[in-house]
Amino acid sequence: MISNVCVLGAGRMGSSIARTLLDRGCPTWVWNRTAAKCEPLAALGAKVPPSVEAGIEAAELVIINVLDYAASEALLKRGDVASALAGKAVVQLTSGSPRLAREEARWVEAHGAGYLDGAIMATPDFIGKPETAVLYSGSRDVYEKHKPLLFALGGGTSYVGELPGQASALDTALLTQMWGGLFGALQGMAVAEAEGLDLATFRSHLSGFKPVVDAALFDLVDRTNARRFAGDDATLASLGAHYSAFQHLLEACEERGLDAAMPRAMDMIFRQALSLGSMEDDFASLAPLFR
Ligand code: NAD
Repeated sequence: MISNVCVLGAGRMGSSIARTLLDRGCPTWVWNRTAAKCEPLAALGAKVPPSVEAGIEAAELVIINVLDYAASEALLKRGDVASALAGKAVVQLTSGSPRLAREEARWVEAHGAGYLDGAIMATPDFIGKPETAVLYSGSRDVYEKHKPLLFALGGGTSYVGELPGQASALDTALLTQMWGGLFGALQGMAVAEAEGLDLATFRSHLSGFKPVVDAALFDLVDRTNARRFAGDDATLASLGAHYSAFQHLLEACEERGLDAAMPRAMDMIFRQALSLGSMEDDFASLAPLFR
């Protein structure tokens, strides 16, 4: 961990990254639009450069963590800053879409620097912990060369692929799965309360049900990956069995006057799959409808 690092952005996440680097004895320069945010880090040993370009010039590795890509572009896309990038490694840890990552990779590489795009799967208090996952894609050279430093930020770090947008794509895919569960919990809580169950009861049954849900989730991914959409001996529950149980949700919403926007959307997807296939198909037969 002997590389000089410049961290651009000392918000919640950028400060946590800089603190972790300082804690590991890494020479660290920190720049922030509002200089006052660098003061607590300076007290820990960070150097505060007079400008973005001075910070980049002092470092071998530049870590960017600002609000969004528009803020990142506003920092980088200035003549003196752009020319300071030549020969550096840039690790972009600002959240963005796959397209933004691709575009930034092209721009950074055109200015003679290596580009690695990262997605942090954690809140700032988890930076530096052994279990913390950070996903990276883009330059394999940058990843390999700075691996010890990247692992210092999160022990669960992994390299997803050489296409710069892939870390962001995996981040979005994993969050989509999380939102499915969270939105489902919102609907489930409404049903439970409408039928006189308290949420403590709902909560107490979540962990018992989780192994069943997890098994169904992994089975869905494996079957989709193998394109095994027809029902077979290994099918856990047919499309027909799912759809029959799903009717109880529609009925509960109707009877208790609950908002049913999400169940209706799910019903449309079920119906579309059933119109194209059969009740005997596997639940994975819904997958092509999402493409
Ligand atoms: P924050 O609001 O605490 O900090 C944002 C930083 O961006 C500040 O340092 C601010 O000065 C800087 N900034 C904003 N606009 C700027 C501009 N135009 N020019 C220069 N600097 C500008 O936010 P945060 O929580 O530190 O998040 C930073 C990034 O990390 C975001 O992209 C966020 O999505 C990502 N992230 C955050 C978390 C989290 O839990 N906080 C988790 C994963 C990823």
